[in-house]
This record gives sequence, C-alpha cells and structure tokens, in this order.
Amino acid sequence: MNEINQKISAARSCPICGKPVDAEFKPFCSKRCADIDLNRWLSGVYAIQAKEDEDEDGERPAEGEAGAT
Ligand SMILES: [Zn+2]
Repeated sequence: MNEINQKISAARSCPICGKPVDAEFKPFCSKRCADIDLNRWLSGVYAIQAKEDEDEDGERPAEGEAGAT
C-alpha cells in the first residue's frame, strides 16, 4: 500500500527539478520548468531529424560516384 502512495507523490514531483508540482503548471512546478521540458523535447526532435540528414548525406557521395563512373 505504501508503494502506491509513493508512486502518487512521485508523480506530483516536477520531472525537471523534483520540486512539488504547482496545479497551474502541472506536471511541472513552474512555467520555467515547463519551458525547459519543452525545449528538451524540441531539441530531441531536431536531433533525430539531423541524424537522418547525416545518413542521407553519407549515402549520397557513394551514389554520385557510382553514377558518374
Ligand atoms: Zn521544476
């Protein structure tokens, strides 16, 4: 039973800094932490897109060489 209570209180902690969540900004403790999480999420998305671009770039030179010859 105690485990359930711990899970609930853990969910009420800000995932960024671990402070108690503010009802206005949940699941975060403040707008600042909500912004930090949003930026992390966005930069993660951009990182994935950049990786895909790199892979494409790596394949292109090989294809171009084969086509030129
Ligand atoms: Zn926070």
